[in-house]
Amino acid sequence: MTDLDGKKYDYVIVGGGVAAAAAVGGIREIDDSGSVLVLGAEPDGPVYRPDLSKKLWLDKDATLDKTQLLDGKQAELQTSSPVTAIDPEAHTVQLQGGDTVTYGKLLLATGSTPRTLDLPDSDRVIYYRTAADYRRLRDLAGKDTPVTAVGAGYIGAEIASALTQNDAKVTMIFDEELVQQRIFPKSIAELITKDFTDRGVRLLTKEQVAGGTLAGDEVAIQIGDGTSVAAGVVVVGIGVAPRVELAEAAGLSTDNGIVVDDHLRTSAPDVYAAGDVANYDDALLGRRRVEHVDNAEAMGKKAGRNLAGADEVYDYTPIFWSDLFDNGYEAVGDLDSRLDTVEDWKDDHSAAVVYYLRDDVLRGVLLWNVWDSSGKARDLIAQSRDGKLDRDKLVGAIPTS
Ligand code: NAP
Repeated sequence: MTDLDGKKYDYVIVGGGVAAAAAVGGIREIDDSGSVLVLGAEPDGPVYRPDLSKKLWLDKDATLDKTQLLDGKQAELQTSSPVTAIDPEAHTVQLQGGDTVTYGKLLLATGSTPRTLDLPDSDRVIYYRTAADYRRLRDLAGKDTPVTAVGAGYIGAEIASALTQNDAKVTMIFDEELVQQRIFPKSIAELITKDFTDRGVRLLTKEQVAGGTLAGDEVAIQIGDGTSVAAGVVVVGIGVAPRVELAEAAGLSTDNGIVVDDHLRTSAPDVYAAGDVANYDDALLGRRRVEHVDNAEAMGKKAGRNLAGADEVYDYTPIFWSDLFDNGYEAVGDLDSRLDTVEDWKDDHSAAVVYYLRDDVLRGVLLWNVWDSSGKARDLIAQSRDGKLDRDKLVGAIPTS
């Protein structure tokens, strides 16, 4: 038991990530005196997660301290405090250890859990997501420690790029032919893949991890063809699953996440959800769940405002972005290379806009080395949805320089 047992708060936020921190900000825009409790499962408070795979490796002035998102003045923060149950009828949450806390309004910002592989339970195997994971990788990864990234999605690609720029010897193991082939058209996936190999990243493509064993200071990773790959540290980024267990057990409506309405309310009174875990109705793109930080920030803030009585619709379509060596991009909507794509390249091939269409309707826009154009991309998606934009008008619709 802690001294939280039996306490009542106007607002309780379950989860200690970006959406939770943004929600505190949203509450405080409306209500500067109500009591707010943030219950995080991680030992650290909310951090700006994008920095864990980018800035903290690439900017010598960046520190973990500077990525902290809550200063403790705006809300009471309880870390290492997993919530084990919620009771919407009684308006209570139960903490590991048995404490019960009563809420006026509740936000579920429980985020997502990394998918795992059949690898040994070891400090040297990192399902990369938290500040603690960053510290471990920082401790282990050095010039002489071979690093293996499994997966070529956001984490695999960003960590491979960042660590290579820190002179680490990096191997990537992934099940496709090209890096980030799942989201980019072949032209761009080929360009990224060449960049990775030119920089010395060893790519083991079309390979699956069958298992692994710990041998001294190394993990021996077995891949599908029977080969063993030796790694000083393994960073796994093979996707995440929304943390819906509390919501499910409490009988809330779930379907690929916790289902929320346009005010971010769940099916239970006084319970809201935001961030990775929320399945919401995007104003431009329809029902979806978004696992990117811009959504966590904007949705968390809106949820916080609504918890405090703002009564506003969440009508923002978020962007996402990444940097891989010297290339970078922003994007809006569905980036799925199985969609029909229209590519518009700058003459010197240094930048491009890629339009992703389903049944001739624009679903996503990739701004490859093109900046300050996400607003325009959203406008085009809206026009296309409304039947006011022909496919042959796409090339040139967003300038590539
Ligand atoms: P991710 O971007 O979804 O990529 C996971 C990759 O692993 C996919 O290519 C997936 O392929 C593959 N995969 C799935 N199961 C596998 C298996 N058993 N073995 C090998 N590969 C497998 O996920 P992530 O890189 O782990 O990132 C975690 C989360 O953080 C995501 O939600 C991501 O959006 C977020 N994040 C975002 C950014 C950003 O916005 N820049 C940066 C870092 C992290 P299939 O698609 O075929 O399953």
